Amino acid sequence: MTFDELKLAPAILKAVREQGYETPTPIQAQAIPAVLEGHDLLAGAQTGTGKTAAFTLPILHKLSMARSAANKFGGTGIRCLVLTPTRELAAQVEESVRDYGRYLQLSSTVIFGGVGMNPQIDRLKRGVDIVVATPGRLLDLQQQGMLDLSTVQILVLDEADRMLDMGFIHDVRKVLALVPKDKQSLLFSATFSDEIRELANGLLRNPQSVQV
Ligand code: AMP
Repeated sequence: MTFDELKLAPAILKAVREQGYETPTPIQAQAIPAVLEGHDLLAGAQTGTGKTAAFTLPILHKLSMARSAANKFGGTGIRCLVLTPTRELAAQVEESVRDYGRYLQLSSTVIFGGVGMNPQIDRLKRGVDIVVATPGRLLDLQQQGMLDLSTVQILVLDEADRMLDMGFIHDVRKVLALVPKDKQSLLFSATFSDEIRELANGLLRNPQSVQV
C-alpha cells in the first residue's frame, strides 16, 4: 500500500511526502479509506502507530473538497472538532493538522485551559474549520457564547480511554450534546473498557472497526 493509492488530494500527498513518510502505517491503511467513505470509526491504536495522521489526513481531504459555512461572526463555522485529554496532545494534533494541511486553504486552532481565554476567543471569532480542544476549556468558551458547535460535521475523540481515566466523561458527554446528531464520528482508544464501549455505542453509527 502506498499513500498515492489512498486517493488523498495531491496537496495533502505533497505535505505527507515532505514529512518524509514513505508508506502508510497499518492504522493509516485501514482508517483512511473508511473515513474517506464517510464511515464512523472505532479504532484501537496506541500512540506511536501513526494514529494522528490516520484521522487528520482523510479529514483534511474531506474538508478541502467542500466549502465552509459562515459562523455568526461572519467567520468560518467549525466543521471538525477533535477532543483530546491533554493540552500537550491537543497542541501536537493541531500542529499535525497544520503540517499536513499546509497546502490547503483550511484554518485550525487549539483550545486548552491554563492560558488566557482572549486570544482563543479572538481566533474563534475570525473563524476556523478545525478546532482541536480539551473538553473543559471548550465548554467554558461555549457557555460564554464564544463557540458554536452546531456546524460540526466531523467529531474525533482521541485517546478516549485517557479522557475517561482523567475524569472527563461528563464533559465529553456535554460536548456530544452540543454537536449535531448527523455527523461523522471517529473514536480512537488504546484500550476498550465497558465504559468506552458504552460511549462508543452511544456515539457511533454502524462503525467500521480497525485495530492495530
Ligand atoms: P502518532 O501515533 O500519531 O503519535 O505518530 C507517531 C509518529 O509517527 C509521529 O512522529 C509521526 O510523525 C510519525 N508517522 C506518522 N505516520 C507515519 C508514516 N506513514 N511513516 C512514517 N512516520 C509516520
